[in-house]
Amino acid sequence: MRLDDLPRFHLAEFPTPIHSLESLTKKYQGPAIYMKRDDLTSLGMGGNKTRKLEFLIGEALKQKKKTLITAGGIQSNHCRLTAAAAKKADLHCHLVLNGNPPVIPNGNLLLDTLFGAEIHFCNREKRDKKLLEVTAELEKAGKKPYLIPVGGSNSIGSVGYVAGMLELARQLEELSLAPDAIIFATSSGGTQAGLTLGAEICGFKGNVLGISIDQVSAGSDAFPPVLATITNETAARIGSDIRMTESDFSLNYDYLGAGYAMPGELEFNAIEDLALNEGILLGPVYTARAMGGLLDMIQKGFFTKDQTVLFWHTGGTPELFAWADRFSKNSEYIYPET
Ligand SMILES: *Cc1c(COP(=O)(O)O)cnc(C)c1O
Repeated sequence: MRLDDLPRFHLAEFPTPIHSLESLTKKYQGPAIYMKRDDLTSLGMGGNKTRKLEFLIGEALKQKKKTLITAGGIQSNHCRLTAAAAKKADLHCHLVLNGNPPVIPNGNLLLDTLFGAEIHFCNREKRDKKLLEVTAELEKAGKKPYLIPVGGSNSIGSVGYVAGMLELARQLEELSLAPDAIIFATSSGGTQAGLTLGAEICGFKGNVLGISIDQVSAGSDAFPPVLATITNETAARIGSDIRMTESDFSLNYDYLGAGYAMPGELEFNAIEDLALNEGILLGPVYTARAMGGLLDMIQKGFFTKDQTVLFWHTGGTPELFAWADRFSKNSEYIYPET
């Protein structure tokens, strides 16, 4: 396996901890719930994009690039972490964000500006075109851009989650834990592709179940081929013979609610549940939806009491501040429009 030989730029301390969620387990009276804390990766307020960016930036530096460019929604965690990682690697950063800029930037958008990223706003339909246009302009201006796809989800970024799964396997062995399922938020696919491939490599027996977060991946026909492509390209990159097909991925599309970045009762209840029972924060867009899904599945009897589930917390907590008004029911505060 060539994983250790691939170019990698150190961004955070690993392994991230595994925590037992005892109060939550007691409250739901179902399977034992554990959490892998990738919300605690030690760069720019944490999250799953850090693992991918270690390999993406490794490649950018190998190619002697000077500027990172990527795209996402206005509250993109991926964009925030790309901006932070760029500073650590002494690179410039351009972000193409779809959405209307608020009067006062908050949440991830505030952090993007603090990390000195140059932001190009556009609407969702124009985003892919705009990303290519800005990249071409940077190229012309001699800024040596390195284009990172939305979510960092290609075979380079996905290697980060193969490494993440191998890291988890070592921890599970030490703790003598064998989860029946690993549950996490899935969107652009790089995380799920890496985890599924990593699980196959290390012989993990449990279900690697992605809770779908957005409409793009929601077309139940559209997403598995994307996952298979990323997984197989990632396998080739690390010199593994494993190849997967669409049916090798475990997905749940039941919790899409009103759509991407439209959190509702499921998400806000999960946020309160975790805050009040465990002192742990979730982000309204990804992790609260996935946790809300897991808690719903537990209530519906998907898992038995003697089973163990591991929720892979992929981060996103800075999103909370962009939805602050949702938590101010009884307060007199007036929040700026977002
Ligand atoms: C991007 C993101 C995900 C989804 O990861 P993908 O690799 O894009 O599927 C999950 N959770 C959070 C907090 C994210 O920012």
